[in-house]
Amino acid sequence: MNVHKKNLDLDAIVKADITHHFHPFTDHKAFRAAGGPRVITHGDGVWIWDAKGNKILDGMSGLWCVNIGYGRKELAEVAYQQMLDLPYYNTFFKTTTAPATELAAKISSVLPKQFQTIFFTNSGSEGNDTIVRFVRHYWKLMGKPYRQHIIGRKRGYHGSTWVAANLGGMIGMHEQGGDQLPGFHHIQQPYWYDFGGDKTPEEFGLEAAQELEKKILELGPDNVAAFIGEPIQGAAGVLIPPSTYWPEISRICKKYGVLLISDEVICGFGRTGNWFGFETFGYEPDIVNMAKGLSSGYLPIGAIAFSDKLIEPFFDKGGEFYHGMTYAGHPVAAAVALKNVEIMQSEKMIERVAELGPYFNQALASLNDHPIVGETRSVGLIGAIELSSNKAKRSRFNDSGRVGTMCRNHCFDVNLVMRACWDTMVLAPPFCITREEIDELVKRARVALDKTYADVKAEME
Ligand SMILES: *Cc1c(COP(=O)(O)O)cnc(C)c1O
Repeated sequence: MNVHKKNLDLDAIVKADITHHFHPFTDHKAFRAAGGPRVITHGDGVWIWDAKGNKILDGMSGLWCVNIGYGRKELAEVAYQQMLDLPYYNTFFKTTTAPATELAAKISSVLPKQFQTIFFTNSGSEGNDTIVRFVRHYWKLMGKPYRQHIIGRKRGYHGSTWVAANLGGMIGMHEQGGDQLPGFHHIQQPYWYDFGGDKTPEEFGLEAAQELEKKILELGPDNVAAFIGEPIQGAAGVLIPPSTYWPEISRICKKYGVLLISDEVICGFGRTGNWFGFETFGYEPDIVNMAKGLSSGYLPIGAIAFSDKLIEPFFDKGGEFYHGMTYAGHPVAAAVALKNVEIMQSEKMIERVAELGPYFNQALASLNDHPIVGETRSVGLIGAIELSSNKAKRSRFNDSGRVGTMCRNHCFDVNLVMRACWDTMVLAPPFCITREEIDELVKRARVALDKTYADVKAEME
């Protein structure tokens, strides 16, 4: 079992946390009112423990990242050994370390063959910032400096730096931290449940993709640099696009010479049952952004694959690309990521996701008889449960997000981590989950849903 800190002074940690720790994505008033944080102490497989001794089923792999599961000693061992050998050296100025280069080659080997070249970052947000600078510079090198506009989707999530938040379509994020930057645009997300009306998902998927063509024509095809999308919009509520959507997006991008960026920070490294989401949905991007699953969250690291045709002008024309992070290709993070990918391969973990996918889908579908469940959906090991006030009409509860938060809180009471994106409950468990654990997850989710339904009924009385 895992070694963890004994005699932890929980009260002192909670008190220090409230006083000294300003948390990300947190309502600070509500946080204090709730008495501060839950303190997580250790993990094993799909399970995490808090400082009160609760054993919790982590249906979210942390933040969609601990794909391999908790407690893998091999990853700790390579980190330890690499720190002893060489804790840090940079990759600027014609220098490298073996783990960085070996990881670049490994990532390239699991991508389609036109992706020979990898750029390293420390996070998904940094990756998307890098991509924006790269594509705009690329178009300058290509003699088309006017190709500067980038199109994303509403409620897309591409990270939290200023540029990444602009790429994304989260209005709440746009409203904080200063004016919107120029050159970022958002089209409607392919969300059949909310917007599909009476159309079939396939008809709706085509229509949603054609929004891209409209936007390109509105901006002028020669002014558009790129389109960015997550294969499945994760933070928006696991929006799984209809099968018609991505092939049409891909066709439109090709038609107008617009670069296609696949933000694979969640879907990459197996989440959908293939190495990458673009394989599952049938398209080939020009640029691939990766982070979370790359190291299963054991250390922070991100990577970007640029297709060879994009890299060529950098080799041909020369001149420095003034961009890079101190920790790009950090040797310890790279060694851990490399081991993570090797284990994914040797233990056939991605095949496992593909095999478990239909079971997970059926298990979620068993919740469809619940009075407040409007729809369940999943691909591989990523899924969602829509909360609805009227199942047949796909109606929403008032005050979007309120009932979702109630349900999330009930999940904690039954020792299940299931996240709420507004009133959509989302799941992305570690790949090592067993069928029995999937059953247990769904059993706990049903209890949380029952409690949520009881709250909603009480409100109406
Ligand atoms: C999490 C996420 C990001 C941001 O990654 P960070 O490592 O948090 O900066 C970017 N894109 C997608 C699709 C994500 O889910």
